[in-house]
Amino acid sequence: MRDDPAPSRPIRAPAELAQAGLVDPARAAALEAVTARYAMAITPAMARLIDPADPNDPIARQFVPDLRELDARPHEREDPIGDAVHAPVEGIVHRYPDRVLLKLLHACPVYCRFCFRRESVGPGGEALSQDALARALDYVRADPRIWETILTGGDPLAMSARRLREVARALGDIAHVRIMRVHTRVPVVAPERIDAEMIDALKAFGRSVYVALHANHPRELTPQARAACARLVDAGLAMVSQTVLLKGVNDDPEVLGDLMRAFVECRVKPYYLHHADLAPGTAHLRVDLARGREIVAALRGRLSGLCQPHYVLDTPGGFGKAPVAASAAEPYGENRWRVTDFQGRAHDYEDPA
Ligand SMILES: *Cc1c(COP(=O)(O)O)cnc(C)c1O
Ligand code: SF4
Repeated sequence: MRDDPAPSRPIRAPAELAQAGLVDPARAAALEAVTARYAMAITPAMARLIDPADPNDPIARQFVPDLRELDARPHEREDPIGDAVHAPVEGIVHRYPDRVLLKLLHACPVYCRFCFRRESVGPGGEALSQDALARALDYVRADPRIWETILTGGDPLAMSARRLREVARALGDIAHVRIMRVHTRVPVVAPERIDAEMIDALKAFGRSVYVALHANHPRELTPQARAACARLVDAGLAMVSQTVLLKGVNDDPEVLGDLMRAFVECRVKPYYLHHADLAPGTAHLRVDLARGREIVAALRGRLSGLCQPHYVLDTPGGFGKAPVAASAAEPYGENRWRVTDFQGRAHDYEDPA
């Protein structure tokens, strides 16, 4: 079932961007140098959201290639969050004791210009082979500490429902894997893919499934995207969100607040706000940490507790995620704390214990 009466094909080359009126034809040729380096794709659902008259369109900033991507900085890294340091077998990243990432494929329906795995994702990046998948599943089976398996990539919901069902079933057969989590952008960028077959495939896991939806601007939560989330939640899947803090996209408490509220309205619990990783050629999209903390403090002052994400930095080198929001309680002196309220005023708290 499609919400869109006339979906066209994804845009996959600068010349097609020019044809769609999303970039100046004179600029399109120069962008070939960018797309030769980093994959590009924009789904019809996202292309439709872009206002070609707005040079600062927040959807275009996420998906339309930019010459500044060729300006890699010395502190940027090919593997910004250190996946490679913790990859015991192909397809698995095991950084934390109780959970692993299972990277099923390197393709996505859209290619985000800020992607932290931009050096490894792209249309040539095929799915794990059957052999590699079998070895990855053996790894999960052999370690009873693995309570949760997180399907990622690339975007796992870009796979066929048939293949996804096989993976979900195999994980469901491993008794110690209690949770299957799927990180995806599909409900937003290709909502028509969330159909009964895809939902059945996820449910083939047989226990609790969490879908972590990646979206960065409130406009992404179109009526079709909201309907896709409703299909997932109504089917009994739990949903959380993840957002990357991006300059010119959502580095504003009003915009970010509207996004968090839109998630909650869709029964998607805000989970992570990621400080942008040091992916090559993404300096023009990054916000500094001090500004990030101000934005997050402003959210705390304005919005329901349901709308508050954890602001995290994935520490370069493979050390994992660290919460980086300013702490609301700081110790000073014996049993004394300075506590900051939602309006930013400080109060003394003497801890009786
Ligand atoms: C981000 C990440 C996870 C998931 O972390 P949560 O804090 O549980 O969301 C798991 N493994 C790796 C390697 C990660 O990078
Ligand atoms: S959907 Fe995720 S993995 Fe794919 S390009 Fe965007 S950020 Fe990267």
